[in-house]
Amino acid sequence: MSEKKTYTLNDLIEMASVYILEEENLQKIRDAYYFADAMHKGQFRKSGEEYIVHPLNVAIILTTIYADTPTLIAGLLHDVIEDCDCEKEEIDEKFGSVVGKLVYGVSKLGRIHFSTENEYLIDYYKKIIVGMSEDVRVIIVKLADRLHNMRTLWALPEEKQKKIAKETLEILAPIGDHLGIHKIKSELEDLALRYLKPDVFYDIAEKLNKTKVERERTVNEMMKYVTNLLTDHNIPHEIKGRAKSIYSIYNKLNKGRKFSDIYDLLALRILVGTEQECYLALGIIHSKFKPIPKRFKDYIAMPKPNMYQSLHTTVFGIDGYLFEVQIRTYAMDEVAENGVASHWAYKEQKDASVLMQTTTEQKLQFFKSIVELNEDKMSSEEFVNSVKDEVLNNNIYCFTPKGDIFELPKGATPIDFAYKVHTQVGEQMIGAIVNNSIVPLDYELQNNDIVKINTSKNSSGPSKEWLNIAKCTQTKNKIRAFFAKSEKEIYIDRGREALEKELRKRKIPFQEFLSKENTNLIFDTLKIPSHDLEELYLEIGNGKHAASTVVNTVYKKEEIKEKPKKTVIKASDADIMVAGVDKVKVNLAACCNPIPQDEIIGYITKGNGISVHRSNCHNLGLLENRTVPVEWNKTTTEKYLTTILIHSNTRDNKLLEMLQKLSMFDIHVDRFVTIARGDDTIYETDLYVRNLEHLEKVFTELEKLPYVIRVERLMR
Ligand code: MN
Repeated sequence: MSEKKTYTLNDLIEMASVYILEEENLQKIRDAYYFADAMHKGQFRKSGEEYIVHPLNVAIILTTIYADTPTLIAGLLHDVIEDCDCEKEEIDEKFGSVVGKLVYGVSKLGRIHFSTENEYLIDYYKKIIVGMSEDVRVIIVKLADRLHNMRTLWALPEEKQKKIAKETLEILAPIGDHLGIHKIKSELEDLALRYLKPDVFYDIAEKLNKTKVERERTVNEMMKYVTNLLTDHNIPHEIKGRAKSIYSIYNKLNKGRKFSDIYDLLALRILVGTEQECYLALGIIHSKFKPIPKRFKDYIAMPKPNMYQSLHTTVFGIDGYLFEVQIRTYAMDEVAENGVASHWAYKEQKDASVLMQTTTEQKLQFFKSIVELNEDKMSSEEFVNSVKDEVLNNNIYCFTPKGDIFELPKGATPIDFAYKVHTQVGEQMIGAIVNNSIVPLDYELQNNDIVKINTSKNSSGPSKEWLNIAKCTQTKNKIRAFFAKSEKEIYIDRGREALEKELRKRKIPFQEFLSKENTNLIFDTLKIPSHDLEELYLEIGNGKHAASTVVNTVYKKEEIKEKPKKTVIKASDADIMVAGVDKVKVNLAACCNPIPQDEIIGYITKGNGISVHRSNCHNLGLLENRTVPVEWNKTTTEKYLTTILIHSNTRDNKLLEMLQKLSMFDIHVDRFVTIARGDDTIYETDLYVRNLEHLEKVFTELEKLPYVIRVERLMR
């Protein structure tokens, strides 16, 4: 598409009708054009053209990525709220609320003018986040809008040109890149460079021009050769010579490479039908042309974070020229060119806009990163710099040994990588191996490094020194959060210990003290609206309340409990009924600790009455034939002792959390010990419960905890 051509409505309709087949939709587009034309009547652009030329061109750019009808209409109307006397409601009414939302979204993006650059940028980034989270089509219209403005930038004064070009290069082109809309991104970059560094731009363009004839001849020859090669092997394909963009060459020169060394000036792209054919084609090419080591990239197995898939290789081609070859399927090519917008290309997908939104929010790392940065507490300056330097620009890609790819800012270290994979990986990190060599933690990661993070569950966590090593703001925030959290945890421990000590002094059982009734009273009296036990410990630990004060809210000083708890909950003889016997001494066996509703059986001991076991107790088998049927007295209200084992899959100390959980179910915890430590920690605890039903409820609740694998009753 030439930027000189003057487009008309007919051109737009012709281009749209290639993929928009319903006449009804085409008519809506015409209506939108007439509406916008009427709205902008009498307005002119700096270039001297009628204003409608701009929205018309924006819509035409949008047809090149197969934008749907609402998006094309939004392209036509994108300036009517801003520049004309048009309200969103009028657009809603005439073109539907979807179009209204898009137009309004684009207008909001443009309507910010602040005194300082940072204020402007914060607002801009936030609006971009909002725009993308509401409907990514808003950003796509904005990109098309900017592209046309860049194409006509010559009409503006130089100072404005530079300002707009800089913003394009720093914000809009990277967003286009992250959304995978390569077509628009690449043109934006070239145009921006042309205005920001005209001397460099024209220097590269001239050099390219000088070598153009020879390059084209070589590329054509190579294409012929490769196409015959693939045809011989029965691989249907399409092959294209490919021009590197001026901006990408500038980037490489900027990294210190000489023009003559930029070997991928000669480039080919091969499109085939299937993924398998990609690898076949690669093998065939490598068997004929020697590949350059380390220049092969498999982005099919390991797609880039913007979903880009392709095989890349550089080979010594004909006449000793180096060729960068890309091999991909037609479908991959669609995604490589149009990224998130490629959902539009498949007409059978009725809900392309929904898919685009899902893709943006779930698959594109950069979107998540900006949203997360926005949620972190940081200064506006930090936010702006983080978005600019760490999310949008200068990124490198690094792989896990499994081939998952992560996007990091330039200068990132293994620490940043570890935290990017998962906060826990970062916190348990003890070392890093990059491309099979051990590296120091301040190693600067390079593009395509394969990074293995060594972790240990015994790691004591990050060191404060890491704050100086980490590059990403997000990493630093996570490290700081770790230390902040640890300090808090110290207070919580301190508070709990103080309370335990006070309770011991006053002979009050801990769990009894923490009954629901009591804690609610404490929370209300001490004004802890979260009703969170940890919060209570924290407030004791940090000195807000003395432990004695907390205890006094429940027990007045004088009524210190002296009763040992065993007598409170001991099973009485009356709870067991032995057939035909009125008064006999009964004990609950300590090996299996029966509780009401358990199937039980009595064993007549020598001189110590009847010992009651669970009927499945393995000790009964040894006890000859001296059993007697027994039954529970169903009216019992006592609590009974039982011992359970809790199997967990964490090394973390979850005692407190489990105790808290148990305290919610009106049971008494008599003892709680860790009996096996390691990856699978086992806890043993003695509980007093009402009956089997009560115990089963406790089991269910404990098993709901994510780290609890299994709970069982202990039989000795
Ligand atoms: Mn505009």
